[in-house]
Amino acid sequence: MSRLIVQKFGGSSLADAERIRHVAGRIARDRREGADLVVVVSAMGDTTDHLTELAAAITDEPDPREMDLLLATGEHMSGTLVAMALHAQGIEAVSLTGPQAGIRTDTAHGRARIANIDPARMRREIESGRVVIVAGFQGSTGEGYDTGEVTTLGRGGSDTTAVALAARLGADACEIYTDVEGIFTADPRVVPDAQLIPTIGYEEMLELAHQGATVMQTRAVELGWVNDVVIRVRSTFSDHPGTSIQEVSAVELRDKVRAMAIDRKVAKVTIVGVPDRPGIARAIFEPMADQGLNVDMIVQNIGHDGSTDMSFTVERSNVARTERLLELLGKELGFTDVQTDPDVAKVSIVGEGIHNHPGYAAQMFGALADEGINISMISTSEIRITCIIKEAQIDAAAKAIHRTFRLQEPEAAESVAEATAG
Ligand code: ASP
Ligand code: MG
Repeated sequence: MSRLIVQKFGGSSLADAERIRHVAGRIARDRREGADLVVVVSAMGDTTDHLTELAAAITDEPDPREMDLLLATGEHMSGTLVAMALHAQGIEAVSLTGPQAGIRTDTAHGRARIANIDPARMRREIESGRVVIVAGFQGSTGEGYDTGEVTTLGRGGSDTTAVALAARLGADACEIYTDVEGIFTADPRVVPDAQLIPTIGYEEMLELAHQGATVMQTRAVELGWVNDVVIRVRSTFSDHPGTSIQEVSAVELRDKVRAMAIDRKVAKVTIVGVPDRPGIARAIFEPMADQGLNVDMIVQNIGHDGSTDMSFTVERSNVARTERLLELLGKELGFTDVQTDPDVAKVSIVGEGIHNHPGYAAQMFGALADEGINISMISTSEIRITCIIKEAQIDAAAKAIHRTFRLQEPEAAESVAEATAG
């Protein structure tokens, strides 16, 4: 049996006809070497953003069903064009929509979850010698011959499509092609001497993605972890092997900070004068959760005179909605004031080695202090330390922390890769 590879190409890799021909050339090369291929595509360039803007120009409240049917067309477009580009290079190929590929989801339009995948059609196409192109980021409700409704999986959802297909088809490899060479110790646009990481654990990758590394959708990493899919992130435009996201055995875990991430799209919210009584946190955070307002890094200060202050962070794009909700809640619960600061950012260090090294927190705080950077909030997990600082200082903070943990030294990364390879 030939090797089955699932490949995914992101929007920037498919941005125009020339890039589509380039992608088809890569696919053709792997096909000629004998691999069976299922190729997941994103929409071309910024197509999804443009479609969203178009809908917004028509109405403030687009119907979720129509919205999903609209967004799904972006991936149909790129899928058909990749198939045609393969035909032009003499390779047999067929493009399928998510529903045609047998991807069934729940009914949550705009953020659907994959419920199951019927691989029969894909398998038939593979057996008849075709490269199967699957439109990413989508599926449908319904069962069997009932086609139900088209759904989309949330922004960046093509990664999830690829990992889910790799798991369901038992693929020999899952390759995510993008416009960078892999996962780096920091964003190279901010820290120029950032190094490519050859191998990274699922949990580390998940923390990085949550803390602002945008190379892969977090849900796709989770899905890979649960299903043991080794995910290779690599560049469409080079032959560099990239980064392998996989289980890293405990023996190889160095006492090491593996990478850092920054997130500028953060805002800090402080509620002043919160009545200090049981149930108050629920009374605030339950309504926020109900409205899909994700809260992060909650800090409650020491209370005095029966009231306390509470601070937390939200995504910057949610600040206005958060303020409106808290004003309403404040009337009911009796806050003194709600203050927001949209000009903050998060900087995090991540690494399996962190939890048995209390010294890392002090080193990170020291790096910031030496730059004269004030920390306004801190949070930690087993394998991560995050600080909230002023957004204007985020680049300086990133460079200082990267240097402090000597992440620019390639040997450190290489030796972990070697240890993991065996
Ligand atoms: N086209 C969708 C988006 O831009 C899905 C994806 O690219 O993965 O979010
Ligand atoms: Mg995209």
